[in-house]
Amino acid sequence: MGTELFNQAKPILEKIEQHGFEAYFVGGSVRDYLMNRHIHDIDITTSATPDEIESIFEKTIPIGREHGTINVVYQGTNYEVTTFRAEAEYVDHRRPSEVYFVRDLKEDLQRRDFTINAIAMDKNFNIYDYFEGDVALNQHIIKTVGDAKERFKEDALRILRGLRFQSQLNFTIEGDTFEAMKHQIANVEHLSIERIVVELKKLIKGQNVSQSYLNLIDLNFFNYVPFFRSLDMKQTKVNSPISFELWIAILLTVEQTNTSLSDLKISNNEKTKINQYHKIMIEMPQVSSKEQLKLFVYDYGINNIIDIIAINSILEDNNIKIASPLIFNLQSIKEIDQHLPIRSRRELNINGGDILRITSKKSGPWLKEVLRQIEIDVLTNKVPNLKDELLKWVKENVKI
Ligand code: ATP
Ligand code: MG
Repeated sequence: MGTELFNQAKPILEKIEQHGFEAYFVGGSVRDYLMNRHIHDIDITTSATPDEIESIFEKTIPIGREHGTINVVYQGTNYEVTTFRAEAEYVDHRRPSEVYFVRDLKEDLQRRDFTINAIAMDKNFNIYDYFEGDVALNQHIIKTVGDAKERFKEDALRILRGLRFQSQLNFTIEGDTFEAMKHQIANVEHLSIERIVVELKKLIKGQNVSQSYLNLIDLNFFNYVPFFRSLDMKQTKVNSPISFELWIAILLTVEQTNTSLSDLKISNNEKTKINQYHKIMIEMPQVSSKEQLKLFVYDYGINNIIDIIAINSILEDNNIKIASPLIFNLQSIKEIDQHLPIRSRRELNINGGDILRITSKKSGPWLKEVLRQIEIDVLTNKVPNLKDELLKWVKENVKI
């Protein structure tokens, strides 16, 4: 089971070996394979340098050449092939200032973060495990390769990664490793928010998030991170897996502040989603009639609302008021959605220009208000969505 992706990638290892170099599968794919978990992508580590990899394969992309990573495109799939490396001095507790390419597998595995991530596997599924990664996998333990304090001092992101693996795999963090996390937590301050967000997204939707979330709070992790440090994270709870966007929306709702999402440096799509969820959370308790629910479904979209209903228990844990299930339930929402007369303002058979043509008024904010009222009356079946009827509505309802 789970060997398919490795077999597909096997010719890459063979080709590298035919040129006299070593190559192995490594990292998350080997860990997940040994745990019988789903494997999502395959990383390859090799004694060949980036130049050598580029000369061996026809199609390559130099995505991270300076730290030794070349993408090899093989049968339509991208494989990250990284040269064995050791890391030089760390500056500011993040990313090494220089990397050295080495020719020895063990040295490469030694610079990896946790013993469960430092296992290599060759093309015949033989395992190379110098740091008892297999023992840790069997005992469900997260433990750094080498001295935990040193390793977290070098790169504080590893602290967060450790908690992320705890959440995803439901593992225990080994005593010394956890102590070192406490000791080095302040260095999280030096990390870029982008790297932090990548890990938080994985952590927050992990099966064991409740434990990792408590650890994040106990370690005071959030005090060292932009955006979160201005929130009172101690009063928030996450007891089951949730998406990053829903989580951030909960934080905004609990805090009732205008903390700027821009500090998170996430995409505009993500920000829009968070803001939609946030509005739903705030306005949902006020929905007390079928008619209001109809507008709600129209304004926010059935999928966003379903996402919110699915996390009702997390909302309650965070003292966020939820809507009455008598009105706000899946069945009513689906029924309403199926029968919406329009799905967006564009579907109205009247627009601003039509209205201006039959009035002597100049365009202004009133126009938007009129269009909103028309929208509401169409949605609640007070007027049919037909041009003549809508023009009549304007003549009757707007001073022209
Ligand atoms: P995922 O399944 O989420 O991809 P992963 O373990 O493969 O998990 P990646 O971020 O893809 O995580 O990293 C690949 C490998 O690179 C890790 O398994 C680990 O060996 C090594 N690694 C990644 N980040 C670090 C780090 N900050 N310090 C040391 N080693 C790291
Ligand atoms: Mg990976």
